[in-house]
Amino acid sequence: MTGKQSKNGLARMSSALGAVALIGAGLAGGVGVWAAEPIAPTLQTPTIHVLPWNGAKGAVSFTFDDGDKSQLSQAIPELDKRKIRATFFLHIGAIDDFGPWKQADAAGHEIGSHGVTHKHITPADEERDVSLANTTLVDTFGHPIWSFAYPFCEAPASLQQWVGKFHIVARGGGGSGKEPDWLNLPAFIATADKEIGPYQTAINEALGNGSWSVFMFHGIGWGTGGLTVKTATLAAVLDYVQGKDLWVAPFGEVGAYARAQQIVEKAPAKTANNGTTWEWTVPAVFPKGVVLKIKVDSGKQLAQKEFVIKPDANGICLLRFDDGSASVK
Ligand SMILES: [Zn+2]
Repeated sequence: MTGKQSKNGLARMSSALGAVALIGAGLAGGVGVWAAEPIAPTLQTPTIHVLPWNGAKGAVSFTFDDGDKSQLSQAIPELDKRKIRATFFLHIGAIDDFGPWKQADAAGHEIGSHGVTHKHITPADEERDVSLANTTLVDTFGHPIWSFAYPFCEAPASLQQWVGKFHIVARGGGGSGKEPDWLNLPAFIATADKEIGPYQTAINEALGNGSWSVFMFHGIGWGTGGLTVKTATLAAVLDYVQGKDLWVAPFGEVGAYARAQQIVEKAPAKTANNGTTWEWTVPAVFPKGVVLKIKVDSGKQLAQKEFVIKPDANGICLLRFDDGSASVK
């Protein structure tokens, strides 16, 4: 047990170094957050318009890595105080007590997978690292685990294939294409030397560009490592994100909405009997109950499975992604 713990301690430390090295590259390349609109507007289907980011102007997700105990004592109280739900990526080899994480899960935070041992995953270990971590977390928490974060942000295609068998979104080093790379999404890496300014910039970018800013935190408050962020800084970031037209939600929740949106927008339209129908396939691995906010052109009526869906006072209809089809007349 002692040997195992010290091994994990070393793994965490080298993880910190790996991440620091990435920051320069990430920010210089503008990969820290999506600069471009993640889903091209040309994909919008006629007459049905999905509102991105659950109807907000942009999205923000707070993610915390490695199951560091300071997250339980420092981050979660600050999040809960402001009713902000976040994502915690646990690598199962480092967790000696899942109890507090079960409480966080029950309180609405998301638990994601960060693999088993936080080593550089070799091709021979890819299946085991991803599937064993997933099985352990699913058994422990009693529900699917939708999100994954790559140790050291290393996301080779072969590893992504395993991740995609169990998870719907993954946080890695980035992908800079016009369309989001769901299994390798970029993040802003929080470090000890950053004051509030860079966080505000990333939050303003989400708002201004209609994009999704994902923040990656490690230790909060304790210690002197390069990735340890002061509790006061985290609190200031959480204060800053509030009261804005932003969807602040766990990584997997935003990812599920955005993926469902993309699938609906790509669904081909079939027109017959003066109506239009769209059909899409819900991925085999996907959360149930995803609902998209949509607007339908005036004078048109939306239906799913023969039931008419009436807009609310703001003209917004709720589209059930699970239905796999919708029609407008
Ligand atoms: Zn990590």
